[in-house]
Amino acid sequence: MIIKNSGLALYLHIPFCLKKCNYCDFVSFPYRRDRLKKYISCLASEISLSSEKLGINGCKVGAIYLGGGTPSLLQPEDLAEIIRAIKNNFDINEPCEFTMEVNPETVQYNKFKEFKDLGVNRVSLGAQSFNDKTLKILGRVHNSRQIYIAYETLRKAGFENINLDLMFALPGENLLDTEYSLREAINLRPGHISYYSLTIEKGTEFYEKRNSLKLPDDDLDYEEYSKGIEILENSGYTHYEISNFAKPGFESKHNKIYWKNLPYIGFGVSAASYLRRGRFQNTSSLYEYCDKINQNILPVSYSEHLTAKFAKAEHLILNLRLLKDGVDKNLYYIRFGTLPEFDFYETIEKLKSLHLIKVEPGKILLSRKGVFIANSVFTEFLP
Ligand code: SF4
Repeated sequence: MIIKNSGLALYLHIPFCLKKCNYCDFVSFPYRRDRLKKYISCLASEISLSSEKLGINGCKVGAIYLGGGTPSLLQPEDLAEIIRAIKNNFDINEPCEFTMEVNPETVQYNKFKEFKDLGVNRVSLGAQSFNDKTLKILGRVHNSRQIYIAYETLRKAGFENINLDLMFALPGENLLDTEYSLREAINLRPGHISYYSLTIEKGTEFYEKRNSLKLPDDDLDYEEYSKGIEILENSGYTHYEISNFAKPGFESKHNKIYWKNLPYIGFGVSAASYLRRGRFQNTSSLYEYCDKINQNILPVSYSEHLTAKFAKAEHLILNLRLLKDGVDKNLYYIRFGTLPEFDFYETIEKLKSLHLIKVEPGKILLSRKGVFIANSVFTEFLP
């Protein structure tokens, strides 16, 4: 019933980049055209294999997301091959949101015009910052000028639904630097802005250099987040998820399927899926991925079936991320046959008394105070 209503979300991982950014812990490999071509053919095979083996062949799809890596390194013929595989195995629920993550240095008018004609109708442009010094520290390939050019080119190619990705709590930046980036982003008038705090992940260049990086302290991190919320809201963006802001009609349909805890299927190296209370993830090894696909074996390296208690906790945590929708008690009841107050009575009472959540007749929401320490709130629900 859930699949019928919103459609499945499909995520496709394109794990190639021109260069590894210093903060990045996503699975990505150095770009080579021959490698990418082989990978696309494995991806197309995986779409058929997995839809068959998971028994989801012919299911309705409500949103498609090409993430990475750098999916904008694809050529139109690569994208056409992927779309053919999707159409051969799924039923696209029109209008289907079809997003491609884009890096500024890869944007060319003709290529994106073709992407648009092939069905991509939303792009997520990885700007991260408009300060050239910061972009260098982050190890990004592009500079700020390329962001403006890429944005204008995307508009000219016909993209009306654009997200800009920005980060705060960046090394060497103060509040004014972050504010500058935000205002530059807003001046471009994208329908959606993602505003994330940088986290230093193990295995990254930044992790190795963490002691010498001039990272902001907790107070500055808090100030940059709260100032960002204020600026974005005053500019007509609704703060609809912890790190996401949208003008009316521009909320991300694909990500909302995740946050509403609805099923999604990931294809490609390291891609994760959630279906029938099972979570599973593909191998992160490019070699193993292609090898398994060539043998008609699903390249899954990890899977778990969630216990009822854990599934309920996860449902609450994900839905609480949606600041306006929150946890819909009715939907929770339909799904689990109980109410959140019954399953998590003590936790809810505690968080309510600390003013970290708000309990309303039909829903439960994070409070303004709760948004700033969301991760601590979420861990309270975990078994
Ligand atoms: S472009 Fe994106 S995926 Fe590639 S290295 Fe940089 S942050 Fe990571």
